[in-house]
Amino acid sequence: MNVLELEQPPLFAETENQEMIAQTVRDFAKKYITPFRNKWDDEQYFPIEVFKKLGELGLMGMLVPSYYGGADLGYFEYVTAIVELSKADPSIGLSMAAHNSLCTNHILLFGNESQKARWLPKLATCEWLGAWGLTEPNTGSDAGNMRTVAVKKGEYWVLNGAKNFITHGKSGDIAVVIARTGDIGDSHGMTAFVVERGTKGFTAGKKEDKLGMRLSETAEMIFSDCYVHQDDVLGEIGEGFIQSMKVLEGGRISIAALSLGIAEGAYEAALAYSQERHQFNKPIAAFQAISFKLADMATEIDAAKLLIYRAADMKNKGIKINKESAMAKYFASEVCCRVANEAIQIFGGYGYCKDYPVEKYYRDAKLCTIGEGTSEIQKLVISREILKKGK
Ligand SMILES: Cc1cc2nc3c(=O)[nH]c(=O)nc-3n(C[C@H](O)[C@H](O)[C@H](O)COP(=O)(O)OP(=O)(O)OC[C@H]3O[C@@H](n4cnc5c(N)ncnc54)[C@H](O)[C@@H]3O)c2cc1C
Repeated sequence: MNVLELEQPPLFAETENQEMIAQTVRDFAKKYITPFRNKWDDEQYFPIEVFKKLGELGLMGMLVPSYYGGADLGYFEYVTAIVELSKADPSIGLSMAAHNSLCTNHILLFGNESQKARWLPKLATCEWLGAWGLTEPNTGSDAGNMRTVAVKKGEYWVLNGAKNFITHGKSGDIAVVIARTGDIGDSHGMTAFVVERGTKGFTAGKKEDKLGMRLSETAEMIFSDCYVHQDDVLGEIGEGFIQSMKVLEGGRISIAALSLGIAEGAYEAALAYSQERHQFNKPIAAFQAISFKLADMATEIDAAKLLIYRAADMKNKGIKINKESAMAKYFASEVCCRVANEAIQIFGGYGYCKDYPVEKYYRDAKLCTIGEGTSEIQKLVISREILKKGK
């Protein structure tokens, strides 16, 4: 047999586990998300009940060991779940990712045994929804310059300040909050605290009215003489910012997966439509102008997928992925914007209207080049790593 005829197994072929997760999420979405998403999007309704149900399926504690009530899965399965959820609705993918990758993972990575036993079982089942507060009104990309302070008073730390653009800033039952405990400009001058909803001095501020991702709640968290017990500090004093960068290293895989879900959703819709829609007595896919768009979309999606699975594979093996997760996030998020844009073009006027899903993908996509580090910041991370290693 000609060697060239041998079937080459695809790189990072889906495991049985991944296929099962994908099917479970598709069935779930058909029942609990798709029929309602347009109404929820119009009303900017945050469907917390969906996340409680996802918790029952084990999708809110995917990376948490079974010892703490989690699903004990790896990054391949995690990526699959986010991709499928995001195809159904990107905001649901975003919220699920923020809960898993940011709040829960920060406690998993840096909490002590008693903290993990106290909070992880509640987070893994979504009995409690998690939030993670790094960004402030005046410090987003420059988060290390934050102004929220924590001052020690006896056994307590007293927090004062505000965090904005926080996913679940209003509905989260628990938040990991990074606050300044040292000098401005010192990357070792910030500490991570866990603050439970109901703690005196911890309130929610304005909920944002957004262009897209409207089913995902984004709100301000305000701290006004908020007393947090010293036992609720995560890891060492002064290590909060460094911890956050490590949390974001894995978090970027989740935003890349979210981007991939959007891109695949928009592409699949456009591919089907291009074969149904006729103009000049032909399906529009017969025009090279359209089929070449599909070729570009498919190629970019595959390239994004390979970058994401490379980062996921390295993460599963415990390899440092600062550069690789930034590359995956940067590329996949830019691809999802381009693909959503071209999908609307293929749909023509119908794509501009809410009757087809591409209008919503287009609005939702833009968040991916901003959240968890903008594209410019990803390029900063990538270029620093390249120059550091001289390759
Ligand atoms: C829907 C949503 C959900 C979010 N969820 C969370 C959350 O759960 N927790 C949380 O902590 N944060 C969250 N964020 C905040 C998000 O991470 C920030 O918006 C993001 O990091 C960018 O910060 P910024 O908005 O302040 O923009 P800025 O930092 O003000 O950036 C503005 C522009 O300047 C560019 N820029 C800034 N610095 C540089 C530089 N050095 N070089 C080149 N260009 C630069 C940026 O790339 C961007 O184009 C969320 C944001 C949104 C919109």
